Amino acid sequence: MKPSMSVLGTGRMGSALARALLQAGYRTTVWNRTREKAEPLTALGATLAPTVRQAIDASEIVIVNVSDYAATAALLRANDVAPGLAGKLIVELTSGTPEGARETSGWAATHGAQYIDGAILATPDFIGTDAGTILLSGALEPFTANETVFRALGGNVQHIGTEPGRANALDSALLALMWGALFGGLHAIAVCRAEDIDVGELGRQWKATAPVVEGLVADLIKRTGAGRFASDAETLSSISPHYGAFQHLKDLMEAGSIDRTVVDGYDAIFSRAIASGHLHDDFAALSQFMGKA
Ligand code: NAP
Repeated sequence: MKPSMSVLGTGRMGSALARALLQAGYRTTVWNRTREKAEPLTALGATLAPTVRQAIDASEIVIVNVSDYAATAALLRANDVAPGLAGKLIVELTSGTPEGARETSGWAATHGAQYIDGAILATPDFIGTDAGTILLSGALEPFTANETVFRALGGNVQHIGTEPGRANALDSALLALMWGALFGGLHAIAVCRAEDIDVGELGRQWKATAPVVEGLVADLIKRTGAGRFASDAETLSSISPHYGAFQHLKDLMEAGSIDRTVVDGYDAIFSRAIASGHLHDDFAALSQFMGKA
């Protein structure tokens, strides 16, 4: 028997989640603060609930996908809603912090609900496809019991741990990698403009060098995990040549009046490590200067 599903929040992502469930044949009830955004889903077979409480009463599993955890709390903790959650499985797919997930998980438990927290690492067009990635954390049993439901949302749905904050934490870690690349892209574009290089040329050369960067990031993660900070025969590059090349970038940015807010931050990290005697250590040694070891 397929469980019945409710989706609270049918913005861009929530609508994609509801569409994937309907496509996979789940009886799906939807609710959205702005009713008009949920209405198109009825043409696909969804039932539109007039209130949050009615949406919760309609199903065994309640997926929440609103803008933040404050919005989730405003919906679920309303006096007429909270008592209806006993015995339900809440799946919180709103983006948030690990602490937000832990707090919401604890709150759900005191109201007799099971809770799984999730982070969606995909845009709406990936939802319901084999390439859709959603990380889930929290109690294992409701995940295992409903794995088929989760698979309907994306081919790469993974339960990554029982600690409810884990999915949000890993989401932020992966977003840090993404923004590193995107802000790096902004710097690269600014350098090309300052030196009259067509950005199309940058795009072509990035395509060729991206695998090198990917390899460096993978090596950094591997070496940091193993605590191999001293240079050794497998070191790809120590801090010293990195810092030398970094000076050229800084000089070029200075000459081209390019914003150095971000690279000054890089410089601060390099400088702390070098001042502590790590100039000839592996680049991974910098990870010791980022906070919690
Ligand atoms: P969106 O299109 O702006 O939709 C936001 C949704 O939240 C709407 O349904 C909105 O209702 C609802 N909402 C906001 N505040 C509310 C409140 N106080 N009470 C009730 N409902 C409220 O955003 P989205 O792209 O779908 O994103 C939704 C979540 O998915 C976010 O946490 C986002 O970080 C996450 N996510 C999105 C993507 C993506 O590519 N879009 C990727 C990964 C994760 P109204 O329609 O009434 O305004």
